[in-house]
Amino acid sequence: MIEDKNQQRTQLSDLGEFGLIDHLTKNFKIKQSSTVKGIGDDAAVLDLKNKKIVVTTDLLVEGVHFDLSYVPLKHLGYKAVVVNLSDVYAMNAKATQITVSIAVSNRFPLEALEDLYAGIETAASIYNIDVIGGDTTSSTTGLLISVTAIGEVEDNGEVYRSGAKPNDLLVVTGDVGAAYMGLQVLEREKEVYKVNPNSQPDLEPYSYIIERQLKPEARKDIIKLLRDLEVKPTSMIDISDGLSSEIIHLCKQSEVGCDLYEAKIPLDPQVISTCEEFNIDSTTVALSGGEDYELLFTISQDDFSKIKANPNLTIIGHIKDTKEGMHLVTRAETRVPIKAQGWRNFND
Ligand code: ADP
Ligand code: MG
Repeated sequence: MIEDKNQQRTQLSDLGEFGLIDHLTKNFKIKQSSTVKGIGDDAAVLDLKNKKIVVTTDLLVEGVHFDLSYVPLKHLGYKAVVVNLSDVYAMNAKATQITVSIAVSNRFPLEALEDLYAGIETAASIYNIDVIGGDTTSSTTGLLISVTAIGEVEDNGEVYRSGAKPNDLLVVTGDVGAAYMGLQVLEREKEVYKVNPNSQPDLEPYSYIIERQLKPEARKDIIKLLRDLEVKPTSMIDISDGLSSEIIHLCKQSEVGCDLYEAKIPLDPQVISTCEEFNIDSTTVALSGGEDYELLFTISQDDFSKIKANPNLTIIGHIKDTKEGMHLVTRAETRVPIKAQGWRNFND
């Protein structure tokens, strides 16, 4: 288990609200030319010229969205930023700024918030975005983090969930199901730790899937790749809840159906081996797992040659007429309707 190695515990009350804000935000540097004024006034000021802007927010609540017994605060800060940027990229936009709001109980020392902000700063630096504000308040119990992300997109560059057309190809980036299996391993180790706090788990065989759970990445690279390939998806969504639920969102909002091929779903070898170990069906995990933060999109058949050789992109199906419904075509070539919770029950 990950323990708090930070021995020093500075009470938040020693700093006061403004001292705390100053302390946590003093290292943030402005990188984007569109940020006219960042932290420090009543509101930030942006100049996005004639670009359209996209705005998205997520709220993360301790005990609901994260468990601090195995999520290090630095990773939590990083993930809180990344999940929002993923939503910006899913609009085919460039992420430029975020705001970060926290509610924190006095159970947390300053050093814990320093770790959280170190993760936020790392993400801001890797994704080249500015932290331009936020709010800080107290909470009676746990920790809450809300991040709002802002991005810009050329006129007509934005991609909605609603543009898929019959015969379009259904494409997914990277691989899916890993974050869910990483969580299964972490939860198992937490139970082992409760019984025997001296146990030293060997997590090496699970390194990829644990990293996918604790330190997910948003596919900024794909937005650039699509631009370079001159491909504009007809529809797009990021995979936060699991492939099947995102496919349903795309199809419903686009008023189309689809065929998804089980054999085409990209899985990492660690997902396959860990599914065998846990006796869970890997297709169910891929369909229902979630938190992969990959992108799912549709493209016109005319763009097939532009994407076909790319190792980051896998064609997993195609769009059909709405009256044909949404189906998983299994390896045995049977057609099973796609349901939000996957086509097999987790408890099977
Ligand atoms: P106000 O009283 O107007 O809400 P605050 O004192 O809360 O102002 O905030 C002062 C400045 O610090 C503002 O620019 C605000 O956006 C920023 N800020 C406050 N809390 C945070 C935080 N947790 N992370 C980043 N910026 C913050
Ligand atoms: Mg405030």
